[in-house]
Parts: sequence; C-alpha cells; structure tokens
Amino acid sequence: MSLELFDTHAHLHVPEFDGDRAEMMARARQAGVTRMLTIGTEVPTSRAAIALAEAEPDVWATVGVHPHDAADADAGVLTEIERLAGGPRVVAVGEIGLDFFRDLSPRDVQERVFRHLIGLARRVRKPVVVHCRDAHAEVLAILGEEGASEVGGIMHCFSGDVEIARRCLDLGLLVSLAGPVTYPNARALPDVARFVPADRLVIETDCPFLPPQGYRGKRNEPAYLALTAARVAELRGEPLEEFARRASDNARRLLRLG
Ligand SMILES: [Zn+2]
Ligand SMILES: [Zn+2]
Repeated sequence: MSLELFDTHAHLHVPEFDGDRAEMMARARQAGVTRMLTIGTEVPTSRAAIALAEAEPDVWATVGVHPHDAADADAGVLTEIERLAGGPRVVAVGEIGLDFFRDLSPRDVQERVFRHLIGLARRVRKPVVVHCRDAHAEVLAILGEEGASEVGGIMHCFSGDVEIARRCLDLGLLVSLAGPVTYPNARALPDVARFVPADRLVIETDCPFLPPQGYRGKRNEPAYLALTAARVAELRGEPLEEFARRASDNARRLLRLG
C-alpha cells in the first residue's frame, strides 16, 4: 500500500510560496500528499485559493473570513464571499471562527461574522472549516445555535482536550490534528489523537505556519504532513498507510470528492 495523505488545511496560495510554489507542490506529491485543501481568509486570499484550485487537479479551495479579518468584513465582503462560495472548486466555507487569543478583531464582530458565515455555508450546502483559539465554549455554542451540524465541518488545528473533542464530535465535526501533536510538550493532543474514532479524524499542515517537530522555526509545507501522520498513527497504534488512507477517506467524504 502506498502512502495517501490529504492535507485538509494549507495556505498554498500565500506569498511565502511565491518563490518556489511548483517545487513545493512537487515535494508534496513526492511525499505522498495526493490531495490538498487551500484555505481562504478574506476576499483576496479566497480568490487566490480558487485560482490555484482551478490550475491544480489535486487542490481544492475554501472561501471565508478569518476571525482576524472579521473587522473588515462589511456587507460587500460578505456578498463577495457568498458569490465565490458557489464556485465548483470551492468545497467548504472557511476558515471561519473565533480567535480570543490574538483578538485582532473585536469579539462581538468576530461572533457576528462567524454566525453569518455558518448561515452562508448552510445556504450553499457546503461544510465549514472552523478556526478556534482560546474560545472553545463560545465556538461550540455558536456552531450549535447556528445549526452547523446540517452541513458538518472540520475543527481545524484542534487545540483542545478530550472533552472538547467529544463535544466537537457530538456536533458532527471532524477533528483535525496539525504539527503541534508532534511536539514534546503536546499536552492533551496525544490523548485526543487516541480518543477520536477512526472515521472522524483528519490531518493538516496549516502551512506555511505550525511546522512539525524537526522543522520548527522554519516555513511549513505540505510534504511535512507525513511527519504528523506518522506521529498520529504511532499514537493510535495503527500502520501509517492504513491511518493515512482512512484520514483521506474521511476528508473526501465530508468534502464530497470522488
Ligand atoms: Zn486557523
Ligand atoms: Zn489556516
């Protein structure tokens, strides 16, 4: 069995990759990454994500407004995101959510935009990709109130504990583990990696951010997903190829990719 990895959260279209995007993508494919989801964070990056997905057969796009950018999300921005969300290469709405760690947008504005974009996801019938930092209680409450389970989604770069993972699963979300699960001080994440059922777990790089152990302090890229996959498979006591294939299947099922 060959390695089949799905990077469910990457920012492939960002300027950090402008100098070597083709080589970066080649390294990803070489490492067994057969599918990638490139994630928009406001209007220009959502457009860039779509453009890349239209050019690369193994890349799909999301469109959304990151909580950091919520303060700029006026009616025109939200209308344009809704228009882009209907595109054929757009398979999810995100990243959306709350970030009470950096608080780059006022919290009430983050919440309003998050609620609006869950509604948008329901209108276009596509799942959500959720960003959550230091706001688990609020994010889980809003996902429940806005009926996100109707479309499902991914809790990206999961940073909670087993109890929070259980609540994400109850809401119908997949749990996505990123580079931090490989860190020696990963705290609750190894337990989460063992706890989440095999049909609800996916993995991601969140590149160019959050490189796994061994590349910390450097630019992250999809080829390094193999390290995160190996660590999660090890924690679960599963063969790497088997784990990787099932995590890919989980993402494909949610995103309705053949
Ligand atoms: Zn994020
Ligand atoms: Zn991201």
